[in-house]
Amino acid sequence: MRQLTQLVWAALALGFVVSRCPAGERPPAEAERVAERVLKRAIIIDTHADTPQMMLDEVYDLAEPASPYMISIPKMRAGRLGGEFFSIWVDVDWPHDDVVRRALDLIDAVNDQLARHSDALEFARTADDVVRIHRQGKIAILMGVEGGHMIEGDARVLDVYYRLGARYMTLTHTRYNEIGDSSADPQSHWNGLSPFGREIVQRMNRLGMMVDISHVSDKTFYDALAVTKAPVIASHSSCRALCNAPRNMTDDMIRALAKNGGVIDINFYSAFDDQKFRDAYLKVEPAMDAAVEAARKEKQKQGRHLSFAEATRIQQQYQAGLPAPSYTVIADQIDHAVNVAGVDHVGLGSDFDGVDAIPRGLEDCSKLPDLVRELARRGYSEPDLEKILGANVLRVMRQAEQVARDLAPEGR
Ligand SMILES: [Zn+2]
Repeated sequence: MRQLTQLVWAALALGFVVSRCPAGERPPAEAERVAERVLKRAIIIDTHADTPQMMLDEVYDLAEPASPYMISIPKMRAGRLGGEFFSIWVDVDWPHDDVVRRALDLIDAVNDQLARHSDALEFARTADDVVRIHRQGKIAILMGVEGGHMIEGDARVLDVYYRLGARYMTLTHTRYNEIGDSSADPQSHWNGLSPFGREIVQRMNRLGMMVDISHVSDKTFYDALAVTKAPVIASHSSCRALCNAPRNMTDDMIRALAKNGGVIDINFYSAFDDQKFRDAYLKVEPAMDAAVEAARKEKQKQGRHLSFAEATRIQQQYQAGLPAPSYTVIADQIDHAVNVAGVDHVGLGSDFDGVDAIPRGLEDCSKLPDLVRELARRGYSEPDLEKILGANVLRVMRQAEQVARDLAPEGR
């Protein structure tokens, strides 16, 4: 056995093994060295965090040293995060005539943080911006619009979000909208992408805005792939084969996404990553939802809305006894996605500050290096780790930019 291990390591050293170590694991000291080298070099990019609502509703400053949230500047520094896509998300139940104003308020809250912390953060509009900002030792901040309902059926609003810096839009959130069906719809409304949704995908291609298929129904996903001229992303989705949530992607979808050149950015939410946790979560969910709804009604009476952070605190009271998984379930998800799609099509989409349950050991973004160590231990090569940690997403962003240039050669 020992001889075999030595043989495998010799093969690795000689470069016979291009991707994964066939023996599976690296010895701890070697894994540590690999992880340290990768952490120094890689641009770690997370494609989804919901922190802007904390900035807006909780008057949260990202430099707060005692931050109760999953993303802060000190935590991003400790986690060696190179780029963060902040999610501009407005709930599908938000008063209809106030959705765009709320989105603009969230964008403004991000801009306010960028202005206050220009020593540490810089806004990125292109993949090249991300690379340049990282070289300068700062953290690149990007934005994505989460939910096509936020354009309220008006393509010009999409253009405005793009001009304000949003570089992806999630076609739906938790309910069908003018663009297409959601994975949360009990029944199909459009049978996938609507005719308007097709126009929107094409328009996003022309703008150079990445199409995000997290949250959409399976049919909407396949329809969007048939229309798009650029690779798409799943900004925060996991694998359904490991955890049976409609929000996760089937192996067939993951293969189709790889064929399109896109990336599945693995969500860190415990109820999307671990079946045991999910089963336990679903049992407490009705009582949890009822408590949140009661609190929401109470707030409404006061003319206020229940903030996401307030709702999360209520939800977590019901989760005390649930079997919280270890962060290694995220590595399991990455392994599975890599096995199905190939290493060029997997990334990270934490959903930090947007989930009520997170695996032990990855409670916030400062813990990201532990995930890198775990992946190094599992035998990923250094170039493959760099791809998963951010290079794949940068590639898709670049391709989206290129498609826009090809479609509008005269420029805008
Ligand atoms: Zn989401």
